[in-house]
Amino acid sequence: MVQARGASIATVTLQRTHAGPVAAGHPWVFAQAVQRLEGTPSAGDEVIVSDPTGRALGRGFWSPDSAIVVRLLTRDVERALDQDFFARRVRDAIALRQLVLLPREDTTGYRLLHAEGDGLPGLIVDVYGDVLVVQLLSEGMLQRQQLIADVLREALAPRSILLAASGAGAKRVEGAPTESTLLHGEPVDTLRCLERGLRIELPAGMQKTGYYFDQREQRAEVERLARDRDVLDACSYVGGFALSAARGGAKSVLALDSSPPAIAAGSALAAAHGFDNVQFQRADVRDELARLVEQKRRYELVIFDPPKFVPTVKHLERGRRAYRQLNAHAMRLTAPGGLLVTCSCSAALTEIDFLRMLSFAAGDARRELRVLRVMKQGPDHPLLPAFAEGAYLKTAFAIVH
Ligand code: SAH
Repeated sequence: MVQARGASIATVTLQRTHAGPVAAGHPWVFAQAVQRLEGTPSAGDEVIVSDPTGRALGRGFWSPDSAIVVRLLTRDVERALDQDFFARRVRDAIALRQLVLLPREDTTGYRLLHAEGDGLPGLIVDVYGDVLVVQLLSEGMLQRQQLIADVLREALAPRSILLAASGAGAKRVEGAPTESTLLHGEPVDTLRCLERGLRIELPAGMQKTGYYFDQREQRAEVERLARDRDVLDACSYVGGFALSAARGGAKSVLALDSSPPAIAAGSALAAAHGFDNVQFQRADVRDELARLVEQKRRYELVIFDPPKFVPTVKHLERGRRAYRQLNAHAMRLTAPGGLLVTCSCSAALTEIDFLRMLSFAAGDARRELRVLRVMKQGPDHPLLPAFAEGAYLKTAFAIVH
């Protein structure tokens, strides 16, 4: 145990063979990497991580019930993870966003805190104008929700702060709310923001924090490419791509999603913008894409942005098969010489694997693919250089012959 600022803090010592990545900047300590634990930390307590020679590598929160037992928040072992520490991280995050002009007059929705990428693993905060939506993904963060709300109020004086419901997936943390709750301010039932001047409005409490800000720049590109094309937006959610395509002068847009609230919110947005050539339809892409292929439908621009089919490396084989099959359908639906914009948000599927999968899918569909570019998450989703898992989003723009 280490005495720091009067409090005794438990020490997690890593096995020699596992200390390298953490020493190089990777912020996760897996359970099997731990050689010994000195002290008796409770879930959510601060711990110090050190290598087997006793060299301290950093500080994080203890999560004994997770496969990742510590996520490091700092390399400075002298630094207590207190309110001051959080306030500094938030100031740094605001400065980073200002550097890339977020917020700006035409874009008032963005990610303010991107967990590991902002030195606060387990904490996500998205901004919707003067409303903040927080996601807490670790026991340590969950226990500090009041401190986090106080720091955010101090830094940004928001009208309201919402705590998003924790998802049903692998990331669900014990004790996390199953419905969104209010941390500060007046109740909010609608989230509103501008994205590149496009008005986005959706009910609070939908997927994740509400909207997917990571594809902002991809949507701008789709808007540029959509003129006079018939567009299919498969897995549209509330239509980030579909609405951008409409604004870019698309001839028609068909948006498909399996979520009824997403379809309802998307339809309302299309109507509010007066885009009467955009149609939202509830559908499961696993059936609907095959059906459209059978009907010999063709689109000059197809966007395919499915959910995470590969949540962890264990799911790699099955997930890759699903991506391949559905991408082959997406290619069959693309008119010869048309554009396919296809995405994967699975960190466990690397960019090289993703492109190889697309090549197999093209073979299955008997089409040829030329990839113009692969875009990543926007700059309000920063990356740690030693943390490959952070580079989750890949959006390939390709011509299909
Ligand atoms: N393109 C969207 C984000 C998509 S997120 C945007 O730009 O905002 C993935 C979407 O896939 C979610 O909205 C989810 O509801 C939807 N989805 C998940 N499984 C699906 C399925 N089998 N068929 C259709 N949609 C599905």
